[in-house]
Amino acid sequence: MKILAVSDEVVERLYSLSNSGHFHDVELIIGCGDLPYPYLENLITFLNVPLMYVPGNHDPNFNPSQTLAYAEGGSNLDLKLIRFKRFLIGGFGGCIRYRPDGTNQYTQTEAYWRAFSLLPRLLLNRLNYGRALDILITHSPPFGIHDEESQAHQGLKAINWLIRITKPRYHFHGHTHFQRRNLSPSETTSGQTKIVNIYPYKVIEVTH
Ligand SMILES: [Zn+2]
Repeated sequence: MKILAVSDEVVERLYSLSNSGHFHDVELIIGCGDLPYPYLENLITFLNVPLMYVPGNHDPNFNPSQTLAYAEGGSNLDLKLIRFKRFLIGGFGGCIRYRPDGTNQYTQTEAYWRAFSLLPRLLLNRLNYGRALDILITHSPPFGIHDEESQAHQGLKAINWLIRITKPRYHFHGHTHFQRRNLSPSETTSGQTKIVNIYPYKVIEVTH
């Protein structure tokens, strides 16, 4: 299955690429956060395939009754697990807390509690399908992988934990890579998981 994943920065060129059929075999759009919802909605319109996304720290609190607080036609996957074309997909929004009043920001401990809340459903996946997760979508990178020293760009340890216990084949994230985009890798393999920094977009073929 081919995926168009987007994160953190609007790339207007994707509109013309979509129009010219460049993404004709893409079956799913994934949003890793910090993107204006109209951008995501435009991509849905152009490609006419489902969108799954997680909110970032620059996104508003999810609110289905406010037009600008969700992506119409898309599924907010924050703390949700779904099955799509036989892929088990899970989402985990937000990043490390660096402002007391920040939206979608969590301390390392708060992030752990959020991750723990997924446990019963992850176990159910393992019982039903023999594995917990195929694709993990987050806004933040894991701690120590693709993250940065600055408080706002430190990764979440709860994501390392999620990867360790669920062993997904793929982990897609955003949030970092603004300053050092050419110096650090955007793909890292940890165990059996391929960790990919999506910023600002990537086309990825995922397999079972
Ligand atoms: Zn961010």
